[in-house]
Amino acid sequence: MGLFSKKEPVKEEAATTPATITTSTDVESERHSLNEIVLESINEGVMIVDQKGNIQLVNPAACKMIGRDADELLHVSHDAVITLLDKTGNRISAARNPINMAIKQKEYKETRDLDMVAADSNKNTPVSIITTPSQGDNPNIIVTFRDIDRELREEHERNEFISTASHEMRTPVASIEGYLGLAMNPATATVDERAMGYLEKAHDASKHLGRLFQDLLDTTKLDDGKIQPVMRPVEIVKLVKKIADGQIPRITDKGLGYQFGSGSVDQQLGGGHRLEQLIYASVDEDFLSEIINNLIENAVKYTPSGWVTVNVKADNYNVQIIIQDTGIGIAREELSHVFQKFYRVDNRDTREIGGTGLGLYLVKQRVEMMNGRIWAESEPNKGSRFIVLLPRISKEAYEQQKFLIENQEAQEKMH
Ligand code: ADP
Repeated sequence: MGLFSKKEPVKEEAATTPATITTSTDVESERHSLNEIVLESINEGVMIVDQKGNIQLVNPAACKMIGRDADELLHVSHDAVITLLDKTGNRISAARNPINMAIKQKEYKETRDLDMVAADSNKNTPVSIITTPSQGDNPNIIVTFRDIDRELREEHERNEFISTASHEMRTPVASIEGYLGLAMNPATATVDERAMGYLEKAHDASKHLGRLFQDLLDTTKLDDGKIQPVMRPVEIVKLVKKIADGQIPRITDKGLGYQFGSGSVDQQLGGGHRLEQLIYASVDEDFLSEIINNLIENAVKYTPSGWVTVNVKADNYNVQIIIQDTGIGIAREELSHVFQKFYRVDNRDTREIGGTGLGLYLVKQRVEMMNGRIWAESEPNKGSRFIVLLPRISKEAYEQQKFLIENQEAQEKMH
């Protein structure tokens, strides 16, 4: 097994030979050879694939992971020689293959949820696959493979620890919150005004802790794949309205206005769907509730006055659920970070507002597990808009999926 090229690697004595006149071609060829040495010796698999999907270069580490010699790989379509499985053990389709996706989308991407099967031993290895397009209009794709078996096991152990700890701590915190509630209730206890002030602070802090433990527990479960979405076909406008309407008390208690549908306060949202139009999608209803509730809770939290608007729009392929507010907004440089774990914008406006920094991370995880995408648009002091995009399904697909699920459930009941 060698590198892609048949050139000899740089000889050791080259560096120690007496100085002679060095031309720029010498320097270049030496650099070239050093590059080869690096590629030959690193533990990460490196491969270059052209626009047709054919392998143009492969290093020994990649050959080892794939379980084939370089001769078997070079100038062959990657699809034909590399076997990638998803976490259920099924071979991934060509459309889901990260290398094909990189050829099409010409984007840098890391995928960490696939296994590679070595052709010579049938051994499965969890891999990180990073695809980086080279410069130019028809870029080659540089693919790196890394064995992440140990990394994933360590991550799993860490998650188990956090999960057990948060689970154990939730119970005493709930009990503290309950007793503080009793102490604050004039029907069950008598306290003076000053003590009441302390109790209120302690009650708020215990509620915050309870929320933090719950968010941590959800995060570890989602990260570990312990919660999987149960997708069902739904009429999405009706469902989003039902979930969003559940938040009306929270919105109006803060003195904010609420609007659902098109023709909102913001004219940019006009021209959306008509309420009587039926739009279908396949979703996990619990996931969708968590997503919408969390986005509305944030909209309320970060909006001192004005409106919270929920809108559903669709084109032929996708549904967009838009949650918009007229609040403090998010600065441009913070926007790309707000979906990261524990990220909280820290400024004068946000400092007094409580939160865990896990809400939007959980929202993004759940959206992506339902094959969707989420992003935010915002202008400081004007407001924010969070857009959840989910694949739309046709009326026929909706009816067919519904029929299949109902049939399956009826059969399960009979057994
Ligand atoms: P938190 O628990 O802090 O609200 P999130 O993950 O839900 O955590 O949000 C991350 C950060 O993004 C928040 O701390 C806040 O600064 C910002 N953010 C989220 N939603 C909004 C919004 N609707 N308006 C302004 N800022 C927001």
